[in-house]
Amino acid sequence: MDFTVLTLFPELISSFFEHGMMARGIKKKLIAGHCINIRDFSCDRHNTVDDRPYGGGSGMIMKPESLKAAILAAKKRTPDSSVILMTPQGTRFNQGKAMEAALQKKGLIFVCGRYEGIDERIYSTLVDEEISIGDYVMTGGELASMVIIDSITRLIPGVLGSLESSKSDSFTDDRLEYAQYTRPEDFEGLKVPEVLLSGNHEKINQWRKNSSLQRTFLKRPDLFNKTRPTAEEKKIIKQWCQELKILVRE
Ligand code: SAM
Repeated sequence: MDFTVLTLFPELISSFFEHGMMARGIKKKLIAGHCINIRDFSCDRHNTVDDRPYGGGSGMIMKPESLKAAILAAKKRTPDSSVILMTPQGTRFNQGKAMEAALQKKGLIFVCGRYEGIDERIYSTLVDEEISIGDYVMTGGELASMVIIDSITRLIPGVLGSLESSKSDSFTDDRLEYAQYTRPEDFEGLKVPEVLLSGNHEKINQWRKNSSLQRTFLKRPDLFNKTRPTAEEKKIIKQWCQELKILVRE
């Protein structure tokens, strides 16, 4: 997977590519990370990349000429990449989109806005998809692009130590991950559930299914209701009902 980020703050992005999982993925040649400074494509000697909005109003708007030139330069290097515009008005990013990108995309070019955003004509001519990371407004698209790149990269086979760990991640199959514990067995009187110390993998899996379903039900009822329970989940829910002495019909 080839990531290119178009930004006015390349240092923010290059330092992200130089650390942790990103650096390991790059070293193993499983991903590539590039940065393009939009200012390098400005059309005047003052390196201007923004201007006042037509019609008046506060703030500045990123000019289309330098953005277009930067996008075309990125496309020239990786013609198979999709151009993603970071905007709070875009489709909401989620784990499903991260998985889809990790499995299907060859490359992604992220366009990070600043100021009051970018000239509308870029949206309609050069962008494949507009993506938001949530219903709030940040000062720039850099953090948003890093959030997306990070969540895609950890799903690329070979980047994480084990792909197994990402299979039980929250939001896979619309469920939250089960509760996790590590040493010590007793932390200030709070004990690790005994089944996790038993070495019985079948029982541990059952316990984890139950924990995952319970947490989803309590913390994210919207997710719980989004997907019909599997046969295994129905059994667990019946068990809950019996424990609560609720009459269960077949
Ligand atoms: N005036 C714009 C609006 O209300 O839609 C917001 C512009 S914002 C201050 C500047 C830049 O930050 C945007 O062009 C975008 O690239 C980025 N940005 C801000 N919030 C974002 C979000 N939730 N998701 C993705 N990008 C975001």
